[in-house]
Amino acid sequence: MQFRDLKTQYAVLKDEMDKAILDVVASSAYVMGPKIKEMETAFAEYVGVKHCIACNSGTDALLLALKVWDVKPGDAVFVPSFTFFASAEVIAMQGATPVFVDVDKDTFNMDVADLERKIEQTLKRDKLTPRVIIAVDLFGLPADFKAIRKVAEKHNLFVLEDGAQGFGGRIGNQKACTFGDISTTSFFPAKPVGCYGDGGAVFTDNDEWAALLDSYHIHGKGNDRYDNVRIGMNSRLDSIQAAILMVKLKAFAAHELEYVNKVAARYTELLHDVVKTPIVPEGFYSSWAQYTLQLENKEVRSGLQNALKALDIPTAIYYPIPMHRQTAFNYLCLDENRCPVSDQLADTVISLPVHPYLSEEDQDRICEAVRQYLGK
Ligand SMILES: *Cc1c(COP(=O)(O)O)cnc(C)c1O
Repeated sequence: MQFRDLKTQYAVLKDEMDKAILDVVASSAYVMGPKIKEMETAFAEYVGVKHCIACNSGTDALLLALKVWDVKPGDAVFVPSFTFFASAEVIAMQGATPVFVDVDKDTFNMDVADLERKIEQTLKRDKLTPRVIIAVDLFGLPADFKAIRKVAEKHNLFVLEDGAQGFGGRIGNQKACTFGDISTTSFFPAKPVGCYGDGGAVFTDNDEWAALLDSYHIHGKGNDRYDNVRIGMNSRLDSIQAAILMVKLKAFAAHELEYVNKVAARYTELLHDVVKTPIVPEGFYSSWAQYTLQLENKEVRSGLQNALKALDIPTAIYYPIPMHRQTAFNYLCLDENRCPVSDQLADTVISLPVHPYLSEEDQDRICEAVRQYLGK
């Protein structure tokens, strides 16, 4: 059994995929070929935003957004402690200070009451200028952007949506990757829409920022490629990945997103009476980058992980170390107890295999094994 079955997905898409890849190979337009514009247009249309700028990774996408807003030393950027390292890493890469915010134990997303507390603390205690809130759509579920937007307006902060895991999610009819002033996603293979390597994208409605993003992702180019007007990066998406993503987006929109939601709903139906299953708030729709259970404690969790492993059922721990405890952030000299929910989740979460091609037989086997281990 695979944790995220990309082999089966390839088998399903093979004919179309092979042709898309070989067409790029034959065209020899490997970098910034016509496929890039095509892909950017398709992804912008899908989420419902004016501009999509494809780049080399979800990490670069976040970094590019911070560059556009000139986030720099002395600035504070608020980010959940319970996330993938890249969400916070980019803040430090710009020389700014990450301020870690705790998360909600039901949604795994930023706790807006704690966000307010951390902003007040930053204003009172630290000689930092609050600039940006990075809200992460963890495990596929959009963050509480209505509440986050209110706080952002009150304190005059930018909202950056880290939709690396959130692509395809919704609040009401509005799609993920449109909730930030700038939003980003990742096309790492295991994300809801993945390519066959690294890739990412930045989304915005703002024309001026879109022009800056375009410049920053190609060496700070001006009107001409050899006229460089700012210090940028080399962060282009490969044409071959753009072609792959066109095939993937089509399948995602046609059936994959719907199927993965069916798989998740079935897990909840089969498991909610024996273990804490994920909660999707009213009006929200998840793209199920992960399906994550919460166990009683670390011992029960590792017991379950071992029991499933013995049955050849893969699981994963996202994430075992919250940001405020990462060695790389030791220099911030943070209060150990600043994000208790993140600490608790790091000890108790476990993610089960979830993807659009998970068979009912495999899912039954997983659920039986979980129930049996929990003695129910
Ligand atoms: C994967 C991920 C990223 C980084 O994306 P890459 O494409 O791997 O650079 C950033 N934030 C979150 C929440 C992620 O899950």
